[in-house]
Amino acid sequence: MTEILQPLEVARAAKLLREGRLVAFPTETVYGLGADARNAEAVAAIFEAKGRPHFNPLILHFGSIRFAFREVVPDERAERLARKFWPGPLTLVLPRHPDSRVDLLAGAGLDTLAIRVPGHRLALAMLNLTMIPIAAPSANPSGGVSPTTAAHVRDGLDNVVDAILDGGPCAVGVESTVLDLSGGGAVLLRPGGVPVEEIEAEIGPVGRPVPIEAGEATRSLRSPGMLLSHYAPDSPVRVGATEVGEDEALLAFGDPLPGAAVTWNLSPRANVGEAAARLFSGLRWLDLRVSRLGLKGIAAMPVPGGGLGAAINDRLQRAAAPRPRPLV
Ligand code: AMP
Ligand code: MG
Repeated sequence: MTEILQPLEVARAAKLLREGRLVAFPTETVYGLGADARNAEAVAAIFEAKGRPHFNPLILHFGSIRFAFREVVPDERAERLARKFWPGPLTLVLPRHPDSRVDLLAGAGLDTLAIRVPGHRLALAMLNLTMIPIAAPSANPSGGVSPTTAAHVRDGLDNVVDAILDGGPCAVGVESTVLDLSGGGAVLLRPGGVPVEEIEAEIGPVGRPVPIEAGEATRSLRSPGMLLSHYAPDSPVRVGATEVGEDEALLAFGDPLPGAAVTWNLSPRANVGEAAARLFSGLRWLDLRVSRLGLKGIAAMPVPGGGLGAAINDRLQRAAAPRPRPLV
C-alpha cells in the first residue's frame, strides 16, 4: 500500500528513506522517486519500480551545496553555477569523488555523478532531515509522461512506491537542465528549468550535443535520458501543428486553432513559463480524452524556443518520436 503523506509528515518521509524505502516527493520541476543513494537494494528498487534501463543513471538530490559537493570533484564553473542557481532546476554532471558513498548502480557505473539541490521547501526539509544523498528520477514508469502532482504519481506507481509526500503541483513543471562539466567544455545534456542562455551568461559558451537520430538509441550513453522517445503519452503526438482535425486533441499555445475535438491550452496568454508548468498535466489530460473518445492523437501547436520554450520543445519532440516500446 502506498501511504500518502501531508507536508507536516515530512519527518516520516525522511525516516522511510533512511530505512531504504521508496518515497515520491515534490520538487519545483516534477515529482521525484527517491531512495537512499548509498543503499544498493534501494537503488535497484527505483530501477525496478520504473522499469528503467540500467544504463540510465539517476540524479542525486541534496539539501545543501556542501553536501552535494562532497560526492564529486567540483571545479570553479560548478561552484559558480551552484551559487547562482541552487537551490534550483539545474543538474551538474561532475567527476565522481573517489570517496563517494553513492552506489555504483545509481551512477550506472559511470565515473561521473549528476547532482542537484532542488528549489522546493518541502524537498529541502526532507533532504536535510535525511542527511543522505537521495537518488531520484522522475516518479513515473520509464519513458512516460513525468508527474507534476501526487495524483499523477499514483496513476503510474500506486502500490509500487511506499509513500508519496504530497506538496501540491510543481511550479516549474519540466525537468532540470542537465549540464555536463566532467570534460573540458560545458555540454548541455538536457534543456530544462534553467534556460541555457542564463548558464552561458555565467560561464560562457555551452556546447550542444548532436541530436540523436531515430533508431540510434544506444549512442545515448553519454546522457541516457537523451533517448529519442521519452516523455511519451500512449497516444501519437504530432508537433508544429498549424491546423487540426476534428478527430484530434489539441495542445494549444496562445490563440487555439479552431476545430479540434478537445483542447488543452498550455497558456492562453502565450507565456512559456505558464506553458511549462501545464505541459505534463495537459499531455495526461489529452491522452485520456484521446483514448475515451477514440481520437487519432494529439496535435501540438508551435511554442517559441526561447527560455523555458527550449525545454518544452525538447519534451514535445521526444513525445512525438517513434516509440521503441509497444503502445498500450
Ligand atoms: P530523470 O531523473 O529520469 O528525469 O533523468 C535524469 C537525467 O540525468 C537523464 O537524462 C540521465 O541520463 C542524466 N544523467 C544522470 N546522471 C548522469 C551522468 N553521470 N552523466 C550523464 N547524464 C546523467
Ligand atoms: Mg524522467
